[in-house]
Amino acid sequence: MDILTHTLSGLAAGALVAGFYNNRGGEPKGPARKRSGDGAVCDTPAGAINGLIGSTNARCSRRYISSTYICSTYTCSAATIAAGGLGGALPDIDAISLWSRFDATIGNFFGLSHSGTVIYSGKFWYSHHGFFHSLAAALLIAAIIISADYLIRVRRRSATFGGYIRRRQPAIIGFVSGFVIHLLEDMATPASAWGGVRFFWPLKTYLGGTGDIWWWNNYDIFLIAAGVFVVCVIVLVLRRFMRFGAKCLIAAVFASGCILCAVQIKSRDCDYAFTGHTDKYNTFETASKRQQREILGNKVYNAMEWLDRKLPIYF
Ligand SMILES: [Zn+2]
Repeated sequence: MDILTHTLSGLAAGALVAGFYNNRGGEPKGPARKRSGDGAVCDTPAGAINGLIGSTNARCSRRYISSTYICSTYTCSAATIAAGGLGGALPDIDAISLWSRFDATIGNFFGLSHSGTVIYSGKFWYSHHGFFHSLAAALLIAAIIISADYLIRVRRRSATFGGYIRRRQPAIIGFVSGFVIHLLEDMATPASAWGGVRFFWPLKTYLGGTGDIWWWNNYDIFLIAAGVFVVCVIVLVLRRFMRFGAKCLIAAVFASGCILCAVQIKSRDCDYAFTGHTDKYNTFETASKRQQREILGNKVYNAMEWLDRKLPIYF
């Protein structure tokens, strides 16, 4: 359930970014704008695009690319949202050290001298809440994915790397936003063995670890993230029929969701903070479930618990 909450938060962040890249929907009309060879939409004075008309491989001059219309199609919006979801889920890849076959496979391949369990709770750069829970990881992984995609798919179509980056700008920002939201959400969980999240890796400082919420069962946060995501997508789909600013509406919905989450996180009646290890694990878990039942009511809580049990992943 925890990973689903992070993914939904990332999807919502992606929807926010998609909304900011086009607040009208559909491609801009009028003779003054043309799509370039690398997919960006030129926003130029009519007289300045003569060289582009009729050319299938034309490129916008940098000064004529309109950032407002870079992401003007539903496909681009969907890609931006998906990138946000991927960014929201990816940081917990470092929990793979808990996998039962980690030592025999990955640990053996890299010749690691510590077991997966020790690595998970340790402070190695590849431990949980280490490098993969940092801003540097968000930027580096985005750079690797985008470079690989360019080399494999786009280069054959003769698009310049600069033009490709401009076209993928919404997805890149969506990915990094989803990734960072995951890190912020983790900061509210207990410090445990790490002391928070190593946000500014390679610095050794860990941020957060406040213990405002328990690791799991934060169904209220899940439902808020799901609600924000669904409303943002509906606005994105309907934006071309809207007379007022869809961008502002999406931003307002997202901001409301963030405020609501902050209120929920800060109003727990139990302090879950601990460092190192705790013998109150079951007590904390029980307290978290009890509070979720109080917040959501029996019906919604039982439905969420049923869904949680159906998930094949522990996270
Ligand atoms: Zn995490």
